[in-house]
Amino acid sequence: MEVKEVKAFGTEAADLPLNGMNINRRKPTPHDVEIEILYCGVCHSDLHTARSEWGPSLYPCVPGHEIVGKVVSVGGHVSKYKVGDLVGVGCMVDSCRECDYCTEGLEQYCAVGNVGTYNSPDNNLPGNPTFGGYSESIVVDENFVLRIPENLDPAAAAPLLCAGITTYSPLRHWNVGPGKKVGVVGIGGLGHMGLKIAKAMGAQVVAFTTSESKFEEAKRLGADEVVLSIDPEQMTAYRGKLHFILDCVSAEHDINAYLALLRVDGSLALVGAPEHPLPVAAFSLIPGRKSFAGSMIGGIAETQEMLEFCAEHNIPADIEMIDIQNINESYERLLKGDVKYRFVIDMASLKS
Ligand code: NAP
Ligand code: ZN
Ligand code: ZN
Repeated sequence: MEVKEVKAFGTEAADLPLNGMNINRRKPTPHDVEIEILYCGVCHSDLHTARSEWGPSLYPCVPGHEIVGKVVSVGGHVSKYKVGDLVGVGCMVDSCRECDYCTEGLEQYCAVGNVGTYNSPDNNLPGNPTFGGYSESIVVDENFVLRIPENLDPAAAAPLLCAGITTYSPLRHWNVGPGKKVGVVGIGGLGHMGLKIAKAMGAQVVAFTTSESKFEEAKRLGADEVVLSIDPEQMTAYRGKLHFILDCVSAEHDINAYLALLRVDGSLALVGAPEHPLPVAAFSLIPGRKSFAGSMIGGIAETQEMLEFCAEHNIPADIEMIDIQNINESYERLLKGDVKYRFVIDMASLKS
């Protein structure tokens, strides 16, 4: 297959910092869209993967799955997009398209396994991993490309492609809305979108944070009430009060302390994906018929639905724009919970 060399930022090993490198992209096939990347959000999953925290990653590793850019060319059979369109790419670039889940619009749970935007074997360039959005451009099948609504700022829309859909999908699935009291735990990239979206869905929203500096701001983001989760007294006041909890924490923490806050028949869905297992006590679940669940991103059609929802309710991400040269420092800040509330890379910086 014909390839084109493009600039990127990535790492050769788990214990090395990210650096400039060149990678190959395939030339667009008839169903492909070639996208010049303008902005790419920095998800904590990028850090987990770059450092092989979820098991050995494929190297070189070029992270980035919150991509917004302009279409610069299209293959002969592309019907949904044209040159100049503002588009997005999230966490997946392909799936089998035939299994029960793919045909239901649940491509993220494809029985064969979805093809990740980065760190998956690249079926088009055998022997190579897929490379993500910390790069000049990307080539993606049109069926895995999203349309960015016009009234959203393109840079602030980038985090919706992962943080937005990862919170929207479980909030919809567990029927969050008016009359429901919902907790959002961990107010980083995912959590701050969880607050905004749960509020827009009409729920009563409670933010749980370990950061005093986010206490007041959580209300601006959509929380009706805020709990400093490191204060046991504040936690006790919420025992048995919540219908649903969305846990967006990237590191080890006590799940049992949150299960205690659920009402009878309540559910806690984990979207945060810490490196190490989280012990759950039987008696955190049994008295109260509680559910402990998980959720992964969302399907392609649901991602488009989420983008329209965020456009309609005017909920972009709160972002701090960075240059690609500052990516390693940004990872260190993510580890300290020091992000308000999503780093977005201005990809123009890759050219300098
Ligand atoms: P992030 O921006 O770094 O936010 C994580 C937040 O968790 C922090 O801001 C902090 O919030 C809290 N936190 C961090 N360390 C903590 C600790 N030791 N104890 C308690 N709280 C802590 O990360 P993100 O990009 O939102 O991603 C969050 C997690 O979701 C990551 O593990 C990521 O890989 C995962 N993820 C999963 C999916 C999926 O499909 N399920 C998709 C995307 C990301 P406070 O300061 O408010 O306490
Ligand atoms: Zn992500
Ligand atoms: Zn499938």
